[in-house]
Amino acid sequence: MKVCVVGTGYVGLVLGVCLAETGNDVIGVDIDPKKVARLSKGEVPIYEPGLEEMLQRNLAEGRLRFTTDLAVAYPECELIFLALPTPPGADGSADLQYVLGVARQIGRLMNRQSGYKVIINKSTVPVGTSDRVRDAIMSELDRPDECPFDVASNPEFLKEGAAVQDCMVPDRVVIGTRSERAQVLLKELYQPFMRTDERFLLMDERSAELTKYAANAFLATKISFMNEMATLCDLLGADVDLVRKGIGSDDRIGAKFLFPGTGYGGSCFPKDVKALLHTGRESGHEPRILAAVEAVNNEQKRVLLPKMEAFYGPSLVGKRIAVWGLAFKPKTDDMREAPSIPVVQELLRRGAEVHVHDPVAMEVAEGVFGEAVTYHEANYDALEGADGLVVMTEWNEFRRPDFSRMKALMRTPIIFDGRNIYDPKRMRDLGFDYVCIGRNTAHGLAPAAQSAAGAAQPGVA
Ligand code: NAD
Repeated sequence: MKVCVVGTGYVGLVLGVCLAETGNDVIGVDIDPKKVARLSKGEVPIYEPGLEEMLQRNLAEGRLRFTTDLAVAYPECELIFLALPTPPGADGSADLQYVLGVARQIGRLMNRQSGYKVIINKSTVPVGTSDRVRDAIMSELDRPDECPFDVASNPEFLKEGAAVQDCMVPDRVVIGTRSERAQVLLKELYQPFMRTDERFLLMDERSAELTKYAANAFLATKISFMNEMATLCDLLGADVDLVRKGIGSDDRIGAKFLFPGTGYGGSCFPKDVKALLHTGRESGHEPRILAAVEAVNNEQKRVLLPKMEAFYGPSLVGKRIAVWGLAFKPKTDDMREAPSIPVVQELLRRGAEVHVHDPVAMEVAEGVFGEAVTYHEANYDALEGADGLVVMTEWNEFRRPDFSRMKALMRTPIIFDGRNIYDPKRMRDLGFDYVCIGRNTAHGLAPAAQSAAGAAQPGVA
């Protein structure tokens, strides 16, 4: 099939490459000429495992092209995907200027010769956007009866870091359209990725649009809920790891997404929770659960700071702090809304000298922190003379480090672990002070005994 993907960011690029991989002719369109030039040379501007090899193979085999000009791609393609940004506006609502702007552009390109088209929205957009896209296209048409087209909602559920796998082997594909013709085409397009027909979820446009927000809001709720449990564990002397296993073994709850930490970030959860809050309020309903999810998360991003203050005092002048992990989660270089950003900024504000390392997000981090921090290609180099280590992303390579080397390098062997990747008892045995989230009884140490051991340092195991 001939497919055009407008927007070649995380979503559009992965989709375009995977569709080319299954034999379709794909044209990626992006307004960023530098991105288009790099992609055309086979360079992936983001970090996504497995993507570059697939990009290069499909470019070489002629199934994939990139352009900055929608007018070049449009006439050739029957299916046109919109994978455009929908950032939060000032009031939290999703900003639809890119989606509606491209819809109008498509309307201007439509004519009698172009034939039937399906415009498919991959971006996460508020309920009703399919209608707005249809209206935007129609507003540009002189003879709408001569230009047959349908609009479909086909929300994206990929996880950054596992995006290729998620696209090639999806849990489900939601197709939101009441047009049978569009449904048939989309099912045909996705068929090579599907193991069973039940994984196609056919619905109307509005339900599809809300499904995406509901999925992300539910996942964000799980995270904020567990973070709240972790806070209670810290206060009550329970261990959140044990509580997590205790509840996760119940099938009705499930074991996934129950890990407390320094809060959710990334380009989706924060903005999607905000947008759904806005949608609820606009439609006359105050989404109380979502408001709490957001409030808990905003506090959680800074959860390590009081624990650090308890150890160092309010000023960090003269302290050298290492930070491992900057990306909002492992296996990506995405730092949008990453909890590392407010933490590093606060450390700098308190006068610390900050030394950072991330396996892949260093280039992106330079755009965020500039020259305010020192960047280290090797994680151990960041530890030299450090008065503490803060772990902000649970990269696999941080899970089993050489602790004796770390201890030898650090001036003060204390770890503030925002992702609970180490065992508190083991860390204590190794001679580290170890501060984590919701596990401060250090496996069996009673709260009273703990307060005697670390009275001036709440949270130190
Ligand atoms: P992104 O910012 O990585 O990519 C968007 C791309 O669109 C950029 O390359 C940009 O240059 C391009 N663009 C902007 N205006 C354009 C125009 N007028 N014409 C052509 N190209 C244009 O965004 P993303 O992360 O891929 O997200 C896209 C949408 O998908 C958002 O709505 C997002 O919420 C949703 N989504 C993202 C993810 C994710 O994990 N990143 C997952 C599911 C859904």
